[in-house]
Amino acid sequence: MALKRPGFPTNVEGQGQLLRGDTKFFSIAPDSTELLRFLPAPKEDGFMWYPATNHYGVVSQDKKKVALACLHKHGNAETGKKCLMCAVDSYFQDNAEELGLDEEAASRLRPTTRHYAQIIRATVVDGKVSGWSRPMLTQFSATAAADVQTIFDSQRRFGQPLANDIDQGQGILVTRTGQGFKTKYKAERTGEIVSLDIIRPTWADEFMTDLYKEIGLNVATPAQQLAYLRITFPALDWEEIVTAVGFEELLAE
Ligand SMILES: [Zn+2]
Repeated sequence: MALKRPGFPTNVEGQGQLLRGDTKFFSIAPDSTELLRFLPAPKEDGFMWYPATNHYGVVSQDKKKVALACLHKHGNAETGKKCLMCAVDSYFQDNAEELGLDEEAASRLRPTTRHYAQIIRATVVDGKVSGWSRPMLTQFSATAAADVQTIFDSQRRFGQPLANDIDQGQGILVTRTGQGFKTKYKAERTGEIVSLDIIRPTWADEFMTDLYKEIGLNVATPAQQLAYLRITFPALDWEEIVTAVGFEELLAE
C-alpha cells in the first residue's frame, strides 16, 4: 500500500483566523493577554473612544434579548433626548417593593456604557506574531479604557509619538483577569515602534470611518421602548407607570 492518501494536515490556527475573519467585534477573553494596535481617530475631532450606552434587559416578542440605546446619550431628531428607559429605571428603583420586583428585576434596566475603539489584533503562532487582523471594534469598560488612556497621557506628556500614530506608533498589550464585577485590565506598551503600513499594509482600505454606524446602536423612539417594556414586564400597569414618569404623551399614540 504505497499509495499516497489524499488530505493535508489541518491548519488549525489559520482556519480559526478565517472563521473569525468576518467578525467586526473583538472582546478580550477572560484571563488572557492580547497585543492590540490602536488605529488613528476616525474623525477630525480626534476622539479614539466611542462610548455606547445601552439599556439591556428587555426582550422582543420572540423572547430575544434586546439592547436599546440610551436616548439621553444617543437620542436624535427623530427620538428626542428624553429616555423612557432611564425614567422607568429610576421608577423601578424607587418603587420596587410596590411593583413586586425583586432586586434583579428592579435593576434590569440600568444603563451600561462600553467604550469602543478601532484596533487591529496580533495573531500569535508558536510564540511569534504571525500577522495582524483587519480593523475591528473592541469594547472596554470605563476603567479599562482609562488604563489604556494612561499610556497615551504619558506619551503626550513626554513628547513621545502616541501609540496610535500611523508611522511611529506601537502595540499595546492588554491583559484581562477575573470575571464579571471582578474583571481587571492591565495595559502596557510594547516599546516596539513600527509603521501600520508595515504590519497591516491594507489597513487604510479597511479602516472604519463611522464607528457609531459600525457599532449599530438600536436607537428606538420612546414609543418603541414602551412596546419592549410591555412585552418584558406584562404584569405591570404601564398606563400608570408612563404617567408617573412624565411620558403620558405616549399613551395618546
Ligand atoms: Zn436611558
